[in-house]
Amino acid sequence: MRITFLGTGGAGGVPRFGCDCPACRRAKSDPEHIRRPCSALVQEGDHKILLDAGLMDLHERFEPGELSAIVLTHYHADHVQGLLHLRWGKGDPIPVYGPPDPEGFADLFKHPGLLDFADLRAFETIELSSLRLTPLPLNHSKPTFGYAIENRKGTRFAYLTDTLELPAGTNEYIRHWQAHGLAVDCSHPPTKTSGKELHNHNDVTTAVAIIHRSGANRGWLTHLGHETDCWLMDPANTLPANITAVADGQAFDLDDGGTLA
Ligand SMILES: [Zn+2]
Ligand SMILES: [Zn+2]
Ligand SMILES: [Zn+2]
Repeated sequence: MRITFLGTGGAGGVPRFGCDCPACRRAKSDPEHIRRPCSALVQEGDHKILLDAGLMDLHERFEPGELSAIVLTHYHADHVQGLLHLRWGKGDPIPVYGPPDPEGFADLFKHPGLLDFADLRAFETIELSSLRLTPLPLNHSKPTFGYAIENRKGTRFAYLTDTLELPAGTNEYIRHWQAHGLAVDCSHPPTKTSGKELHNHNDVTTAVAIIHRSGANRGWLTHLGHETDCWLMDPANTLPANITAVADGQAFDLDDGGTLA
């Protein structure tokens, strides 16, 4: 199972418009540090599933028929805005799965174009080609699902964003499920440093605790904000060895035993 983090930014991205912090300055001078809307591609053999659709160039990145499905965590702009353009394309309908949310986003449900929307239900596993996908409720300001994804050989990857901590049922599920790799919302630096109160998103401390508690060999921090980048740029601040703050475009192969190839 190959996981490619196409975008790793929080809402507003890095660099943030008008910001002159060290992380935003670095991203302006070196495109490698730009963080685009948070999304990932999960590839198993020939099948590709796109997790979230906030990138605005989806219609250029993918060919018709290339994606088996698009799976949405929730209907905030930074996770769905790329669909506004993609829907007017030509070709076969693209299945788009997400949490039940009558509001959806803008006029996507009214004018879906070639997008074929379907609601998922919490903890009800669906099969998408050779992958099994289980929606897990998250704590966010809109109905939001994370996803537990397993291939036929039992390799397990969970994608948990956007969220602040995990609801009890999801926490319990993750504790028993034993993911090999876990990607987690990490929008903020440790709150003890920033002095802010957390709403709707994890800080570094919470995200690292979720990964440790899960027992996963590998953890990936995503949905990163510019303040988190500033924190990471300080050499005094380090992450545990098995946890990476991912960059846009970084890819990881989980082999059949679930270790990193
Ligand atoms: Zn978001
Ligand atoms: Zn900044
Ligand atoms: Zn959100």
